Amino acid sequence: MKKRTIPDLSKKLAVPLNAIASPQRIAILLAIGTGEACVCHLETALGWRQAYISQHLMALRKADILQDRREGRYVYYRLKNASYLDLITASATLNGLSSEAVSAVINTQIYPACECPHCAPVLISIEGLKAV
Ligand SMILES: [Zn+2]
Repeated sequence: MKKRTIPDLSKKLAVPLNAIASPQRIAILLAIGTGEACVCHLETALGWRQAYISQHLMALRKADILQDRREGRYVYYRLKNASYLDLITASATLNGLSSEAVSAVINTQIYPACECPHCAPVLISIEGLKAV
């Protein structure tokens, strides 16, 4: 096997770092966390418009960082590899923040204004009962 040169290796290592290197993409990864989230949940969590979020979701999917799954009228996004959260946590500690500052915002948010199945499971089950 051919040994990689430093420039060759560095080019490869920069790919995932470049793909997430914006506050918007990091925010999306934190809002998804170790679970999964639909666009409407991300809209509520981040306060951004759907088109703006979709643009970043598309870029993160293209970079092979996110995968999606459709269930009914919802499309859920999840991280393909949770190591991206470790990368974000490492960035926090390099910036003098505690790793707890990052873990405190991952997957803990339920928004009363959000109607996704994650935030409002009761609403969904009532709809399910109506269908019976
Ligand atoms: Zn939600």
